[in-house]
Amino acid sequence: MALRLYAATTSQGKLRDFRTAARAFSVGIDPLPGIESISPPEEDGATFEANAVLKALYYSRYAPGVLVLADDSGLEVDALGGAPGVRSARFAADAGLIDSPDANDNTDVWNNMVLLQRLATIPAAQRKARYHCVLAAARDGRLCHIADGTVEGMILEAPRGTGGFGYDPLFYLPDLDRTMAEIDLETKLSLSHRGRALLELLPLLAR
Ligand code: IMP
Repeated sequence: MALRLYAATTSQGKLRDFRTAARAFSVGIDPLPGIESISPPEEDGATFEANAVLKALYYSRYAPGVLVLADDSGLEVDALGGAPGVRSARFAADAGLIDSPDANDNTDVWNNMVLLQRLATIPAAQRKARYHCVLAAARDGRLCHIADGTVEGMILEAPRGTGGFGYDPLFYLPDLDRTMAEIDLETKLSLSHRGRALLELLPLLAR
């Protein structure tokens, strides 16, 4: 591998996405050592970019000299005025249904339930949504690169598929007639928000 960097994430889904995309650029990605025992920074930014940057800067201080990659991502639903947006991971927690996202293994199930309930009266044609991802790379508390990606879709009325994570079983891609949970990882990365952001970022890092 030409370059190795750390990903500041505890999400196995994100890590799998990062590693699969990075292989093609000879970039090796490992989870930031000891990240589980580092108390996470407050993700209080109003945008994905603000949160991605604050996480990259914060975690890069725990790995002197190494490039640290952080992302912030989520779902924006037009009929909900862009919600859950930066609150995507905490949608059910914000609704008071669970304590906190990390404390509950069924967080995705609860989040999907809240989404379906909020859209219950919205007809299929008006359930437009997009995933949005911003990636930030920092070293020693200094920001090095930022990249951005989106993918458009529709929110179904019931989940379909068992792959992916998060809102994937409800996120329908009209061109493929599949949900994000019904496509393989390579296909997901070729068109997903995270895949697109990685495609922009990885050549910059590999240079
Ligand atoms: P973050 O960890 O603060 O970036 O939260 C991102 C949240 O957005 C996740 O917990 C998921 O609920 C949702 N999300 C982001 N990317 C994806 C994806 O690729 N598939 C499904 N859900 C996603």
